[in-house]
Amino acid sequence: MAKKRDYYEVLGVEVTADESQIKVSYRRLALQFHPDRNAGDEAASVKFKEATEAYEVLADKEKRSLYDRGGHAAVDGSRGGGGGGYAQTVDLGDLLGGLFGGLFDGGGGGGRRKAGPQPGRDVQIVLDIELVEAARGVKKTVTIQREDHCEKCNGTGAKPGTKPTNCKRCGGQGVVIQQQMFMRVQTACRACNGQGVIVTDPCTQCRGNCRVVGKRTIEVEIPPGVDTGDRIRYQGQGDAGDAGAPRGDLEFAVRVREHKFFERDGTNLVCQWPVTFAQAALGGPIEIRTLVGEKVKYELPRGVQSHDVIKLAGHGMPGRRGSRKGDLMVQILVDTPQRLSPEQEKLFRELAELEKSDVGPLPKKSIFSKLKDLFVPEETPTKPENEPK
Ligand SMILES: [Zn+2]
Ligand SMILES: [Zn+2]
Repeated sequence: MAKKRDYYEVLGVEVTADESQIKVSYRRLALQFHPDRNAGDEAASVKFKEATEAYEVLADKEKRSLYDRGGHAAVDGSRGGGGGGYAQTVDLGDLLGGLFGGLFDGGGGGGRRKAGPQPGRDVQIVLDIELVEAARGVKKTVTIQREDHCEKCNGTGAKPGTKPTNCKRCGGQGVVIQQQMFMRVQTACRACNGQGVIVTDPCTQCRGNCRVVGKRTIEVEIPPGVDTGDRIRYQGQGDAGDAGAPRGDLEFAVRVREHKFFERDGTNLVCQWPVTFAQAALGGPIEIRTLVGEKVKYELPRGVQSHDVIKLAGHGMPGRRGSRKGDLMVQILVDTPQRLSPEQEKLFRELAELEKSDVGPLPKKSIFSKLKDLFVPEETPTKPENEPK
């Protein structure tokens, strides 16, 4: 291991720093490198330990003065022993609790894994819908699986007629004080899962889980204009919590399938529309079908170029919560004919002559007609209907 860093340097404070400066600085580092926020990150874990060790010494007047005079050697009496010699109670809950609660629970909920009845988990479901449905809005009937309170034991987990007993490990408190690294931390009791009670005679229906998986059919109302990534949340419709605690939430994450013809660009829709050479040159009315099946007439100007974009205002996706509708952007594609009738062939050649443009020779017979030529004469004599009766 590398040479131990100076404790003041570790906490990023001056040697003249007072108690509150040291506390503030440690708090900042502990928040940054706390294992809960850096799962599996070794470097963060080392930094957290280092900062905690420095704080242990500098927050204690006696140890700090020892350290100031003699450095690490003066306070590091229990080298290699995990610091057991001078472990004090760093009340992380007190120091960080409020902040951690705020960071992890979105506020209001207090501690991260507080003791007592736990609320139910959120149920998250992906909901695939078509682009047309996103444009119109849609009601979807969805059957979900979620945890409900076991009816047989009334959610207690105990066999009907029996009662859960007080947890011996925590004395029914639901929490235990533990020595973690260099400090004492209050955590939920693992023996009883923070419940304070233990089921000795479990319910046969839920095997003591208090909950069973049940099905529920729910109608989800999807408003017009939704997009992939939008979430629709139903509070209190998720998994059942412990007795006395609320249910989790039910959340649908919307995913809009791609459309074969229309592409979404924010609230606008984009599509391509083919026109013939004659239409492009001469202009004329065209009729464009929108995503929701409306037919919109448009007067194509003379001389429209391939890839020109025309805008059909208000024929895009609806805006959210009644905001402005998007537009339909139609890219014109001049469709070059790939097979010409003899008549078309003749007219195009006349046109080329007028334009004095060089054009290719008349096409040779296609491979298909060559194949026909190859097989037809051989087959003809064997065909029964051609045989004289
Ligand atoms: Zn039960
Ligand atoms: Zn317990």
